[in-house]
Amino acid sequence: MTTPQEQKSYRIVELETHDIRFPTSRELDGSDAMNPDPDYSAAYVVLKTDDGYAGHGFAFTIGRGNDVQTAAISALESYVIGRDVEDLGALYKEMVYDSQLRWLGPEKGVMHMAISAVVNALWDLKAKRAGKPLWLLLSELTPEQIVDLIDFRYLSDVLTPEQALEILKKAEKGKGERVEHIKREGYPAYTTSPGWLGYDDDKLRRLCKEALDAGFGQIKLKVGADLDDDIRRFRVAREVCGADFPIAIDANQRWDVPAAIDWVNALKPFNPHWVEEPTSPDDVLGHAAIAEGIKPIPVATGEHVQNRIVFKQLLQAGAISYVQLDSARVGGVNENIAILLLAARFGIPVCPHAGGVGLCELVQHLSMFDYAAVSGTMENRVIEYVDHLHEHFVDPVVIVDGRYAAPSSPGFSAAMHPESIAAHTFPDGEIWRDA
Ligand SMILES: [Mg+2]
Repeated sequence: MTTPQEQKSYRIVELETHDIRFPTSRELDGSDAMNPDPDYSAAYVVLKTDDGYAGHGFAFTIGRGNDVQTAAISALESYVIGRDVEDLGALYKEMVYDSQLRWLGPEKGVMHMAISAVVNALWDLKAKRAGKPLWLLLSELTPEQIVDLIDFRYLSDVLTPEQALEILKKAEKGKGERVEHIKREGYPAYTTSPGWLGYDDDKLRRLCKEALDAGFGQIKLKVGADLDDDIRRFRVAREVCGADFPIAIDANQRWDVPAAIDWVNALKPFNPHWVEEPTSPDDVLGHAAIAEGIKPIPVATGEHVQNRIVFKQLLQAGAISYVQLDSARVGGVNENIAILLLAARFGIPVCPHAGGVGLCELVQHLSMFDYAAVSGTMENRVIEYVDHLHEHFVDPVVIVDGRYAAPSSPGFSAAMHPESIAAHTFPDGEIWRDA
């Protein structure tokens, strides 16, 4: 709840939504074994205050259904109108525990992604008001303030508030130096741009070479549609990148458990750095069985893991070696902080999912916060990078020598240019009107 002092200051007075879609399926950008024709989209929200600030957020979708997602965001309007951003721990939990909306999940799917969009917009607003990039704002919170942001319900068998405090207090040591290190050196990235399934071998070869030239320390290939094609494409990538260069593979949930084990073992001679989303993101025991069946190749997942509880189980089961959290699927910044702490508790590195539209812009803030204030290390950690659609953002990511440069503008880097929003609004924006 707010204090009388805060009530005098400012209020959110408007929640505005936009159904924004990019016709990426025309070029097969983003094509993989399960998503052959994505139109990268954002169910976009702007929260406006009575003193002239605006917080931006979005849920990422791949086309049809973006209207449903946008409507779900609108259903949260009553939680933010008349409010401020002083206590985002409380406001996040209020939305999650709306008893009627909660029936639509709980804590999963369209409604949870809508909460994510609104929570992230609130954080964008808070960081803008503070005049700081979000990663720095979060890094400067005290361990106690961070713990207050988290919903520990369903976590306390492996992570209690006291244990979270212990992790955060341990990371206090050296935090100042790590913040300076981020400002100086940024955070390591890897690129998925060469690996889309719809690209031919020449384009794959050229993009692998470009990735090396740009200084990336890892690439990723999409797999899972046809084994012979995967073997041929992996061979091409190995020829260009060399025997020891980290090349991950991503099946985008294509396989049943036995098929995953057989397929990945067939690709073992090419030494995959990890296999990502081998099967359904809900199949915790399936991931554990795959991890056992393809040893020592590590399993990674997370972009479709719906909440902190499933991450908890994946970690408890020893099913994954990399946590690939997504900035816009679980309940926004707050739930992602819980996931960062879970990963730290289990000693598992976080290598976030990004790409789509705006996901790189958002998730860099979470990894930088993780390094500064939670895990305290960048070892064996990289943020995914995909070189699509950044030009539509006011504060786009900057990649220098294969690393994300630290954002310095206030906010969560979520705002898109008004002209981009207008042109890509579905179905009446000029991009779609003339299609
Ligand atoms: Mg993926």
